[in-house]
Amino acid sequence: MKKIIIANWKLNPQTLKEAKRIFNSVKKVAGRLSKVETVICPPFVYLSALRATGAQDVFYENPPAGGGAYTGEISAAMLKNLGVKYVIIGHSERRYPPVGGGETDEIINKKIKTTLEAGLKVVFCVGEKKRDGEDEYLNFVRNQIKEGFKNIPKKFFNPPAGGLIIAYEPVWAISSQKRAKADNPESAFKMAIFIKRVLLQKIPILYGGSVSPENAGGFLFKAGMNGLLVGGQSLIPENFIKILKIANNTK
Ligand code: PEP
Repeated sequence: MKKIIIANWKLNPQTLKEAKRIFNSVKKVAGRLSKVETVICPPFVYLSALRATGAQDVFYENPPAGGGAYTGEISAAMLKNLGVKYVIIGHSERRYPPVGGGETDEIINKKIKTTLEAGLKVVFCVGEKKRDGEDEYLNFVRNQIKEGFKNIPKKFFNPPAGGLIIAYEPVWAISSQKRAKADNPESAFKMAIFIKRVLLQKIPILYGGSVSPENAGGFLFKAGMNGLLVGGQSLIPENFIKILKIANNTK
């Protein structure tokens, strides 16, 4: 299976010109790497101009039952129509935004269903806010998975057609957090095994949280992750390209 490397650009960059510069630098190299599936998730406004294949979010109904009266929202059908293939759902910055009003497990579950039904792949983010020294954080993640996948039909769990991917992103490891520090491959490995046990299904598991060219290999090859979700470093083409090349180095 190809390694899946996903770039989450978040609210960056501020101009289409800069977005094109980053995207085109990465694309030139990514197109030559046969063992990596590269997915760039720019802000919605750049999707069309870049012909990017990833989105950072989606609305939870499709088509909206209220006749589309949802100001500012974007549906899975709209994304599909633009050529998008992957949608990030449940990112911690949407679950726990700085100004409140975050997404609940119920909303996330609806988004997952809607997106899969539209024929798109879901990158479902899970991860604990803190590690307690005990194994309580494992239960926290188990619960997020159970709630997110509630009543999702079995067929969506079968790769490659299935469409479900899990991104394990411990919130404390995300670079925007104070004192963020990447997890280590050993504990990420423990989590990957745990998630596989919870799911009892074989779906790809990615690691996210302060990924850099220095630690990417550890997560891919020691922790046995199927790919990575990369935030900050995906905006620096040289570094993101290094990560892609490391991932392509699979035997
Ligand atoms: C993210 O927020 O999805 C992420 C992985 O960010 P970073 O790589 O910057 O920690």
